[in-house]
Amino acid sequence: MQEVTSSNLVFSTELKAVWGSLFYSYKDRMEMIPQPIEDRQWLFGKTLGELQAIVAEKGMPRFTAKQIAAWLYRKGIDSIDRMTDLSLRNREVLQQEYQVGRLPYAAVEESSDGTKKYLFPTLGGRYIESAYIPDADRATLCVSSQSGCKMGCKFCMTARQGFAHHLTSGEILNQVCAIPEKERLTNLVYMGMGEPLDNVDQVLRSLNILTSDWGFGWSPTRITLSTIGVIPAMRRFLDETKVHLAVSLHNPIGSERALMMPVQNRYPIEEVVSVLKEYDFSGQRRVSFEYIVFRGYNDSPAHVHALSRLLAGLKCRINLIRFHAIPDAPMEGVDDAAMVRFRDALNRKGIVTTIRASRGEDIRAACGLLSTLGKNGKTINISRDTTFLEKSR
Ligand code: SF4
Repeated sequence: MQEVTSSNLVFSTELKAVWGSLFYSYKDRMEMIPQPIEDRQWLFGKTLGELQAIVAEKGMPRFTAKQIAAWLYRKGIDSIDRMTDLSLRNREVLQQEYQVGRLPYAAVEESSDGTKKYLFPTLGGRYIESAYIPDADRATLCVSSQSGCKMGCKFCMTARQGFAHHLTSGEILNQVCAIPEKERLTNLVYMGMGEPLDNVDQVLRSLNILTSDWGFGWSPTRITLSTIGVIPAMRRFLDETKVHLAVSLHNPIGSERALMMPVQNRYPIEEVVSVLKEYDFSGQRRVSFEYIVFRGYNDSPAHVHALSRLLAGLKCRINLIRFHAIPDAPMEGVDDAAMVRFRDALNRKGIVTTIRASRGEDIRAACGLLSTLGKNGKTINISRDTTFLEKSR
């Protein structure tokens, strides 16, 4: 049974029941922020160039685009009515086709360690997640770039949802602006649901808005984008931004990685690293490799050796990550002692390696769990596929 709460957004009553008091009344929240109207485009998420094209087409002065950008990204207004340095006539003209946009989050869950997971509706009628992670003097937001994902990584809950749709740049940036902690944010990571470089146009647009003077004015060194290595889009990202890059590696042995990450068949990790070696990471920009350590799969001395050969000559670091269990997962993580042994072995090979602290374990920390719950009001039932583990052992 479902409850229709706006023109294009549907929320399940089962989800409300599951979340109980954690579920904020969506109707209440929609009264706080003007509702999107489907047939009017969002201005929020448009670049200065796109705003300039709009005002030119409407016969408005060119400088109006910068005024609109300031209202959208600096002043955070939620209605064209509030763009008070635009003439009344120009505001009326804009409102005929456009709205500011923005969506409130639908629910939030807080961990005992302060991590919060926000659930956002999408314009396509699905759910995405964002994770707010406070840590001493840092506060990081992990944003999603797609609803679902088509990359099919075997260890990933989002993969099990399948691909629904790309998020627009406005929907990506909305995650940053719609949380109460937005003023406290120091860092942003594109590591949530989806493969950001599979949605490269919208992701680059969002990064442009985040890092431009006329936009949010963030330093690119405060932002990290994570990819599994979609090479053509990765080149565009490296050429067009100065944002840090994190590559999901998880296994340096190509034949084993392919069993776990189908992208290996299209863009082998050896070629990804070879492309990275063409770029300069000796200055402010950093490249790192994400490595979830799975027991008996990618944690042997042979993997340490293969990693040191693969990454030789590239200034980088490896972040070891504990596996957040997902339902019916065919693999398991390692204990703390094994993590430390693996880290030390890599450090002895001269690769700077750290263990990332696990956060939000008690609030379904694995990306995709929460939104899968929200998709139908219950977790989806996935058959247990252990083929790749059996082949790799
Ligand atoms: S790990 Fe990332 S790229 Fe792979 S399926 Fe999950 S969301 Fe997609």
